[in-house]
Amino acid sequence: MNFRYNESGPSFISGSAISDPNHDPFDSRQPFDSESRDSYENQKADWPSRYPGTIYRQGSSEYRLAALTFDDAPDSLFAPVLLEILGHYRVKATFFCQGDCVQKNQGMVERIAKEGHILANHTFHHPDLTTLRPEQIRAEIQSTETEIYRVTGLRTKLFRPPYGALNDESAQVALAMGYKLILWNVDSMDWSGISGPTITARVVANMVPGSIILMHNACTGSVQAGSGMVQSLPYIIEILKEQGYHFVTVPEMLSIPAY
Ligand SMILES: [Zn+2]
Repeated sequence: MNFRYNESGPSFISGSAISDPNHDPFDSRQPFDSESRDSYENQKADWPSRYPGTIYRQGSSEYRLAALTFDDAPDSLFAPVLLEILGHYRVKATFFCQGDCVQKNQGMVERIAKEGHILANHTFHHPDLTTLRPEQIRAEIQSTETEIYRVTGLRTKLFRPPYGALNDESAQVALAMGYKLILWNVDSMDWSGISGPTITARVVANMVPGSIILMHNACTGSVQAGSGMVQSLPYIIEILKEQGYHFVTVPEMLSIPAY
């Protein structure tokens, strides 16, 4: 991996990053099955209206805020670059951690917390919760909470269901455990192997004030997906800042407690 952010400014602005003739960055067609991960049909269900103040897809449109979120985190290969980029731009993000990734990459989890980012819960094994019994759902959430607490001393309060997959039963199990449920309204599709410029263009084209942006730092993800993520991130941050966006964490955007 030889990614470096451009100290002299984003080449995206001058056009070089999107002038690759093999890529139309505004082509939103996906080469991969878009329902295979974190892009579930029931994302379209209006959960926030049905569970006001407890299930969120985005923040208020009143302010030009943006919240970056990284799912299935952390890995060990791309997390250092990701944290370097976020630190460079003084942007704080929210990491939806997978319990088994926390176990594998404890040092990275400590570093994420120490650098002021928010740790949140994304189950231990990344199952589709709609296929599990309530006690299995509780175990997935509780074991991840316990693992993050063991490493950092922080008790997670924000939860994102894998694939965004919910039904009333699974939603109510998580809510009864004291969690707020956080979905997203901007899907970067970074996991799918699309290029950095395409990821950037997707995010920028879909932004509205108050957006929660879905990205990945998956410990089970591909090198190609991680490369696209870290290539796109500086451009996403610089372009959105240029458009007047201010980056906040999910609990800041929603005015809810992080832990
Ligand atoms: Zn996930």
